[in-house]
Amino acid sequence: MKVRPTARSLCQLLMTTLALVGFACLAVPVSAERSLPAKAGRVVAITFDDLPYVSDGPPVSPDAANAAQRQIVSALRRARVPATGFVNEDKVQALGPAGSRLLAEWNQGLLALGNHGYSHFDSNDLDVAGIEKEVMKGETTIRSLATSSDRSIPFFRFPYNHVGDTGTKRIAIEKLLASHGYRLAASTIDSSDYLFNSAYERAVTARDKAMMQRIERAYLDHSRAQIAYYGELSCKVLGRDVPAIMLLHANRLNAATIKPLLGLFRSAGYGFVSLAQAQADPAYSAMPAVATKFGPMWAYRWARERLVKVDGRQEQEPPAWVSAYAGETS
Ligand SMILES: [Zn+2]
Repeated sequence: MKVRPTARSLCQLLMTTLALVGFACLAVPVSAERSLPAKAGRVVAITFDDLPYVSDGPPVSPDAANAAQRQIVSALRRARVPATGFVNEDKVQALGPAGSRLLAEWNQGLLALGNHGYSHFDSNDLDVAGIEKEVMKGETTIRSLATSSDRSIPFFRFPYNHVGDTGTKRIAIEKLLASHGYRLAASTIDSSDYLFNSAYERAVTARDKAMMQRIERAYLDHSRAQIAYYGELSCKVLGRDVPAIMLLHANRLNAATIKPLLGLFRSAGYGFVSLAQAQADPAYSAMPAVATKFGPMWAYRWARERLVKVDGRQEQEPPAWVSAYAGETS
């Protein structure tokens, strides 16, 4: 299921905000074209959404889900990288018994489960009572799994990162999550992996190995640029490095590229932490007080909240040929 590409729209609003000065990292232009040298002490939390498995290509089968999960989980375990997997209960049920079996893999060691709702709902379209139903029904499988191993489910992540399109709803969502014992899971780096995956699924269906490899390379190049861009953006807006949170999806493309993806972070000087460790930073102590119907990464929200001027047009778009091949209009 796709994540809506909505950051750009908020960026247009941000273009009109005021500039603040005095941050140590303001000397660094926020640009996707260049990247900072690696900085000591940077950390990132890896997160996967739409577990157990998401595909908008071939119908989801237990075999495809199992193969992707095996690649992702084994790569994370082997590299000793903590990760949180956010689950849609309807995707668990669609896989039958295989669904909860796959999730059990995420309920041990450095891996952890999170709630992503029963369905891939859009909170903009629901009232608070409807959102609460999604939150509660989303616990069906993950709650019993976690409880059976004496674990908790501390985080909820909203589909599309839609966390309140009005001030009133945003505050109601904040209260709702707290009343169910959740913290809102943030996201600071987005690589449009859903779009690359759509193209990848098409190449897989066509058995076009050359195209699959071309898409993998383009995806990794884009991810490298996005990691640099968002690292600089967060630093510019908050005046310091904050723990990053990478938004990925449990799909075929990430299964194929998880090892080099983790390598991109290492090359950029990042160490890996759990989501709980990342969100222990004071930057995440409260939801950004920003109402938007879009789903921008947190640095854009922090910028709007703090009246820091950023130029979102400098964020790199996925290559046009990838969008075209995926069937998007771009
Ligand atoms: Zn999602």
